[in-house]
Amino acid sequence: MTKALNEFLESNLKELKDNGLYNEINVVEGANGAEITIDGRKMINLSSNNYLGLATNETLKQAAKSAVDSHGVGAGAVRTINGTLDLHVELEETLAKFKGTEAAIAYQSGFNCNMAAISAVMNKHDAILSDELNHASIIDGCRLSKAKIIRVKHSDMDDLRQKAKEAVESGQYNKVMYITDGVFSMDGDVAKLPEIVEIAEEFGLITYVDDAHGSGVMGKGAGTVKHFGLQDKIDFQIGTLSKAIGVVGGYVAGSQQLIDWLKVASRPFLFSTSLAPGDTKAITEAVQMLMDSTELHDKLWENGDYLKEGLKSLGFDIGHSETPITPCIIGDEKTTQQFSKRLMEEGVYAKSIVFPTVPKGTGRVRNMPTAAHTKEMLDEALKVYEKVGKELGVLS
Ligand SMILES: *Cc1c(COP(=O)(O)O)cnc(C)c1O
Repeated sequence: MTKALNEFLESNLKELKDNGLYNEINVVEGANGAEITIDGRKMINLSSNNYLGLATNETLKQAAKSAVDSHGVGAGAVRTINGTLDLHVELEETLAKFKGTEAAIAYQSGFNCNMAAISAVMNKHDAILSDELNHASIIDGCRLSKAKIIRVKHSDMDDLRQKAKEAVESGQYNKVMYITDGVFSMDGDVAKLPEIVEIAEEFGLITYVDDAHGSGVMGKGAGTVKHFGLQDKIDFQIGTLSKAIGVVGGYVAGSQQLIDWLKVASRPFLFSTSLAPGDTKAITEAVQMLMDSTELHDKLWENGDYLKEGLKSLGFDIGHSETPITPCIIGDEKTTQQFSKRLMEEGVYAKSIVFPTVPKGTGRVRNMPTAAHTKEMLDEALKVYEKVGKELGVLS
């Protein structure tokens, strides 16, 4: 190996390991369902984003298999050459219906979506107001656009109004956009979209909502924008197809004109091969399922409420989540990591999240209940939480 590379890798890996920040990756043996097996041990899984349990749904598995039979395993090209299959068109029409917009465009991932959409519209003559807790892919997408990035305090509408006013009145920028997550995944809180829309209208801001954790969860399944009835007020509705939808991919839903532009100007659409046929068909089936019935959505919320109620009555601090995402706030970083490790030893897989992902002293174990969990699993998880909580002195 080149000396310069070797030195770089060795010193950086060592630093991570010395500081206890080197992430050891767990390998799941088999499917990522409500229970998972790691190192031969079966555990209750409270760490996936598979909110509706669709990752292992039988109907979707069959849909994927039949599309592989009819269309093969790969799309063969990028969308603009000849990688646009009838399956992609069907998916995009279904997504637009689902989100209540004129049109939609699918990408290979939610991450890719933010790489694609922001820089297709914003450039160095523009400014982007961005909530400080926005997802990493939004931050990278903003950087890629070369627009001026202005951080806004988390869900602070006074700060947003102030900074929007300054940016617009400075006369320095051609366009100003506001970007926010729909649901923030660390605390489970929801963006204040009605106030955001009001401020955006006052200052002529372009609005961009990344609803990766809201789709399938909020608005009876259709997402946070639908939850507030603001489909025709938000310019960009971004979603992922890998969380509640259970497969892989991402999309932008919006006006026909916006989607027409993204199809000619967004680089991951032009230069990266389109979604595979099996995935595409399974996604369309999943979205259709969510439009036909709220059964899975209702079950998800029932399970979320049950887990929250259980943890709260044991005496845990579960923060101020407005969604099924259930943080259990432990406090200092060491205890939080120890807590998560003990949960796993007792058969509950729930990951710790600590500084710098969340502020110092607010380390938490984050629980993601899904529609696929049974009451028995949740009861067992609560029993383990009580045991570990007492053992580590988090509960008295
Ligand atoms: C998870 C997530 C993404 C990335 O989605 P993938 O489909 O997994 O690439 C993008 N934005 C937000 C807000 C997310 O939570």
